[in-house]
Amino acid sequence: MSKNKYLRQLPKVDEFLDFPEVKEFSAMYPRPLVVEGVRKVIDDKRGTILALSEKDLEEFDLSVTSYLDELEMWLKQQYALSLKRLINATGVVIHTNLGRSILSKSAIEAVVNAASNYSNLEFDLEKGARGSRHSHIEKILVKITGAEAGMVVNNNASAVFLALTALAAGKEAIVSRGQLVEIGGSFRIPDVMSQSGAIMREVGTTNKTYIRDYRAALTDETALLLKVHTSNFRIVGFTHEPSLEELVELGREVGVTVMEDLGSGVLVDLSRYGVEYEPTVQESVRAGVDIITFSGDKLLGGPQAGLVVGKAEYVERMKKHPLARAVRVDKMTLAGIEATLMEYLDMDNVCAINPTLRMITSPADELKARAKKIARLLASNLGEAFTVTTEPETSKVGGGSLPLAELPTTVVSITSSATSAHRLEEMLRANEPPIIVRIKEDAVLLDPRTIQEGEEREILDALKRVEAR
Ligand SMILES: *Cc1c(COP(=O)(O)O)cnc(C)c1O
Repeated sequence: MSKNKYLRQLPKVDEFLDFPEVKEFSAMYPRPLVVEGVRKVIDDKRGTILALSEKDLEEFDLSVTSYLDELEMWLKQQYALSLKRLINATGVVIHTNLGRSILSKSAIEAVVNAASNYSNLEFDLEKGARGSRHSHIEKILVKITGAEAGMVVNNNASAVFLALTALAAGKEAIVSRGQLVEIGGSFRIPDVMSQSGAIMREVGTTNKTYIRDYRAALTDETALLLKVHTSNFRIVGFTHEPSLEELVELGREVGVTVMEDLGSGVLVDLSRYGVEYEPTVQESVRAGVDIITFSGDKLLGGPQAGLVVGKAEYVERMKKHPLARAVRVDKMTLAGIEATLMEYLDMDNVCAINPTLRMITSPADELKARAKKIARLLASNLGEAFTVTTEPETSKVGGGSLPLAELPTTVVSITSSATSAHRLEEMLRANEPPIIVRIKEDAVLLDPRTIQEGEEREILDALKRVEAR
């Protein structure tokens, strides 16, 4: 009986929509979403009234404010973008789950420019006729790598797939058993080969493969000698694999194309900066490999893309293959890659301006100073429950690159007498913006290597919110 009294107090949808506050929401959010939200909030209230006992109903909040709060929360949730910025405090630079590489300033500008304006994407300004989208990237790619020709596709997985399809479909491709790798996300070399229509001829063993193994597997049907860089693991100890030079020499002798999937595809010798050596694209080009593929967003530090360089004859065949259209890049990627590559014209400076390279080559003493500074900021602004210290640690390159490299760093270690490390990790992850951290034993670790300028304050604010709970 008295439930009716409460039900009668529920506003009608039209009335609710006329509230001045709701009208304000209509200016901020799409009108249909506001109407949906208003209906939902009223329905929820009705549901609660019907479910509650009469005694509980007496204390039930039916004020206008309570409706408005619920509506606002719902609208915010619905209208928030799912893909959002977060703070990477893990120290893993090329974190595949967190978007791999972030772009340099000039690459970002190029992307925005391509997105906001018409461009000569496929228009030859000199001839006034249709042009090729590959042309924009090819000149700089060739200049930097020393290759004859180049092209760019959606990602390295599609570059490998396109190369195998265009160069070896229906024919045999020889590959060492030590290089049949799986990259994350179920990209497996044997599966990609079978999808491409190339017939895989495995040679050698897991740990040892000789050039004579390749030679013994040659038939009239052999179209490709394939070398895959074992990016994300290392076989150590009693091992052998033929050098690139040996493979190229054999390819020349018998007239078979040599292809290399380099994976990360680094353009600067990182050992100059004390980071583990990773074979460069230029070395593969110099060795005479016919077709080389690598990623745009791993050690190159650009947007997601697959780069292809090599002999013009093979690159041309790939460009003309019908599959090339299916794996082509969009103009924003193209713009981002071109601007990223431009920065490699000055090899001595690129590590200072390309964010991925900058983070990987950050000097240990600089990271230590930053860790201490962050620790001081946190310690002096947080209450007694928190203990903030710094300690030596190592960071990872990530992205299936340089799996053994341990980059020396100093981390900020946080423990709380009120909150376990796991709970703290959860609460930081639920923050806006989310903060992703490492846990070691019972401490949360923040690695300054991947924390961007200005994010220190946001971390402090998040910890203060944790404290206030
Ligand atoms: C990462 C990687 C790939 C896949 O590259 P994506 O750009 O992620 O598609 C293929 N091969 C190797 C050896 C790799 O390391």
